[in-house]
Amino acid sequence: MVRLLRRTCLYASLFLIGALGSSAVALGRPGGDGETPPGRDLKQPVDEAYTAKIKKYTTAPYFSSPLVDYLPAAKGVPTPEAVLGDVSGAPGILPYAEDVYKYMRLLEKALPGRVKVFSIGRTEENREMIAVAVSSEENLKRLDENKARLAKLADPRTIKLDDAEADRLVAQATPVYYITGTIHSPETGAPTALMELAYRLAVDESPYIKEIRDGVITLITPVVEVDGRDRMVDLYRWHLAHPKDFYPPLIYWGKYVAHDNNRDAMGVTLKLTENVLNTYVGWKAQVLHDLHESVPYLYDNTIGDGPYNAWIDPILADEWQMIGSRNVADLTRFGMPGVFAHGDFDTWSPGYLMFIAAMHNGISRLYETFGNGGADTQERTLEPEEYARTWYRQNPPLAKALWSQRDNNNYEETGLLTSLHYFNENKRLFLKNFYLKAKRSIQKPQAEGPAAYVLPADDPRTTLQAQLLGVMRKQAVEISRAKTAFSVAMPAKKDKSAKGKEGEKEQQPATVTKEFPAGSYIIRMDQPYSRIADALLDHQYWSPEDPQKTPYDDTGWTFGELFNVQVARVTDPKVLSVPMERVMEVAPEGGASGEGAVFAVNNHAEPALATLRYKLKNAAIEAAEEPFESAGTKFNRGTFLIRGVSREELDRAAREAGLQAVALESAPGVKSHAVRAARIALVHTWLSTQTEGWWRLALDNIGVPYDYVSTQVIAKAGDLNAKYDVILFPPVGFFSSASAVVNGIPTAWGNPLPWKNTPETPNLGKNDSTDDIRPGLGWEGVASLQRFVQNGGLLLTATDTSRLALSLGMAEGVTAGGGEKMKIIGSVLGARLVDGASPIAYGYDDKVSVYCDNGPVFSLTSIAGARGRRRLGEEMHSRPTGRGGIDDPDFTVGRVNQTPPEEPKSEIWEAPPVTDEQKRNGYRVIPEQDRPRVIFRYADNKDLLVSGLVEGGNEIAQHPAVIDAPSGKGHVVLFSINPVYRGETRGTYAMVLNAIMNFDSLGAGRKEAK
Ligand SMILES: [Zn+2]
Repeated sequence: MVRLLRRTCLYASLFLIGALGSSAVALGRPGGDGETPPGRDLKQPVDEAYTAKIKKYTTAPYFSSPLVDYLPAAKGVPTPEAVLGDVSGAPGILPYAEDVYKYMRLLEKALPGRVKVFSIGRTEENREMIAVAVSSEENLKRLDENKARLAKLADPRTIKLDDAEADRLVAQATPVYYITGTIHSPETGAPTALMELAYRLAVDESPYIKEIRDGVITLITPVVEVDGRDRMVDLYRWHLAHPKDFYPPLIYWGKYVAHDNNRDAMGVTLKLTENVLNTYVGWKAQVLHDLHESVPYLYDNTIGDGPYNAWIDPILADEWQMIGSRNVADLTRFGMPGVFAHGDFDTWSPGYLMFIAAMHNGISRLYETFGNGGADTQERTLEPEEYARTWYRQNPPLAKALWSQRDNNNYEETGLLTSLHYFNENKRLFLKNFYLKAKRSIQKPQAEGPAAYVLPADDPRTTLQAQLLGVMRKQAVEISRAKTAFSVAMPAKKDKSAKGKEGEKEQQPATVTKEFPAGSYIIRMDQPYSRIADALLDHQYWSPEDPQKTPYDDTGWTFGELFNVQVARVTDPKVLSVPMERVMEVAPEGGASGEGAVFAVNNHAEPALATLRYKLKNAAIEAAEEPFESAGTKFNRGTFLIRGVSREELDRAAREAGLQAVALESAPGVKSHAVRAARIALVHTWLSTQTEGWWRLALDNIGVPYDYVSTQVIAKAGDLNAKYDVILFPPVGFFSSASAVVNGIPTAWGNPLPWKNTPETPNLGKNDSTDDIRPGLGWEGVASLQRFVQNGGLLLTATDTSRLALSLGMAEGVTAGGGEKMKIIGSVLGARLVDGASPIAYGYDDKVSVYCDNGPVFSLTSIAGARGRRRLGEEMHSRPTGRGGIDDPDFTVGRVNQTPPEEPKSEIWEAPPVTDEQKRNGYRVIPEQDRPRVIFRYADNKDLLVSGLVEGGNEIAQHPAVIDAPSGKGHVVLFSINPVYRGETRGTYAMVLNAIMNFDSLGAGRKEAK
């Protein structure tokens, strides 16, 4: 899961040469601590054939343990061989999800008392997800009874926070340990490991395993990313069928995103996150343990590295240390090399799937074991830093080793079995902690605070507010609504400019009173899941001085800021006694009101306006180019003026979109232009599809249709303007250099890499397909895009594709640089509106928060072909040595001194004014009407940081964030920010949607050329 390479858990390594010494050690009888030792029950027969194959496929004895070097036999109970045709981890065998499910259901059929399979939901492509419970007959018989106990521990309000009652429940309850496999599709080992694990847990009579079965309910989702798993198995089988060929990388995992499916635990926009979250919370599980494969041989990043997430309970940090350290110790005692904790994974971001547990009073865990990305046995060679002995890795992995899927399965199963055993040994402690963390979540208002978050009823962005509350609902957070208006004391904002002189007491009051209207939403912090609400709604600060220099993922995420929704953090406990009622659904009231020839829908930069535009295909919709007032209501620039649709149809569409359409007596006397349901192409490369996947997901949810086309199609499309008005080219992510995008993957050697739906690969090619993923955009494609813009189209780019467009010379007068010392790692930054008359800005206020990940840093110039001047904050104007003071002119003795002309000034986000010298024979001077127009800029340095890490922010402060560059008859709109990211940046979606719907009027409001 590494951020730096942004491909982390992908390509791991391995293999061995030197024969090491002893094999797995049989550990002795229990010592003074009374723990049962691992090792088989000599009275239970072993499946000899299966056991022999385990041995055969394990490449060295020390890659195994006494827990997994045999398979117990149980009459009438199928082993994984029944479905796989070989043992778990056998070379060449990678089961589809449906085969894994088939096995789990066979196991359930053979041992219905000990195994139960539950369907937990469907994926985006309608594949099933399951959870398999394995425990003793006794435990599974009493699942409901047990769940009722766990539910009381999970919500201590139900037992009035009575510790004695909690102790009684803890003594009786059986905990739930939830294991999830293969969320990352190229990390292929978990399903077979979990099939065999389920079998062992269900049938093994050794005391060590029996204790787990009797003491714990193990819950297993063997395949989290089911859509991606099936594609990965297709690819692997293609590879087996064409052993001499190169095979394509897994271009699509889930329908929308790849590796980022493990960054969705905040926004919960993917089905897999929602299904796992519901299962975890629904079962009241204590642990969520997610399996990955990118680090040799078992990196238990349960403990991780700093900084820890600021919102976790310290009890959890201690649990991480306990469980992680013991787990490493157990495997080290078996003689298994390369097992370690700590490492470089910080637990700052709550975006990982496993973090659902950390944010819901449980214990999050994650393994990185070592996978070959398939089931081939291969020699693997590690990087020096991977095999180095470090303080936390005293028995490091081998520099070179032959590695098999079976080895990987051995590590996964051994780690899980020892974890389950240790967890069971200490389950009363962990259950009590589960209760205590929930209790402390409920006591938050009196402890560290805040008392509540309030989302005011008069926030004009009602649909975005509802979406933010919808995320809270998905996170199992309770939402209430105030029945009356109320006021609370809020800490007064410190006025940065009004700092008292030294010794002078500050005159500012400590608090101010803030009023909230009736109907405001209150998220009380005295609820069991207050922790996740607090973590998402609060602000984050990552110090540039932090010893952790390589943040693993985003450093800031404040949801109120990114949704462009008002959120008040209220510490005044008075808020909790406001009369309020619980609400289960938050749906903003929309619909048509009044009678008139024209209806107005105010523009507050809500994506719902695009929903409405595309829904009312045949309506005539115009945008008001200036604000206006009608019947006492103020309407913003960009307000929709709707005609040519029946009142019923408008009412229905507005209701569904959650927008209010108000009849006007007459059309307002302001200039307006048509708002179009533009025809859109969304372009992807065959290099990487994840980052654009978030754009597809957003457009699908908003109801904006588009053609999904690859750069190869663009290259051959001919007249793009005949088909499209707008081409969206979202960020590429990996391999985004101009040469990679234009040239693609080299075709000068190797074989075609098909991504196609064929009988051989039935799960590929549904998003898009090609005979060969290697060719890129090509020079024809570049020419096609250029022609499209020149002929009046809109090309919209963001982050790396903005760099691409600029390096291809598609927008005159803009340059993109990188920072020198700048370090902005997935942070929330302040931005400011520069040109509110641009349609791209419709509905926005002067301030908006944006997501930024190191730029690029845009600069403008009015001289064609010149480099934009990068200015690093305040410029020093020096004067030569001479008479007078620093602000005085120098003088020349013996002549009348000329007053020098006023030096032309400009802001950082503007192009430097064209000088008189440049105007002389000024053939390079870009005419005013053709110059790029800055719509938003980054805030001043002092206001730049909203949440996260900002170091060297002066390099990007005040520089343009969103630019509209006219080119020929069309436009290139360039984003330095990523406006559509991980379902989290909904407040900036409208910048993109505004550009789309106003593609042929982007010049509106442009200042007339002088
Ligand atoms: Zn992974």
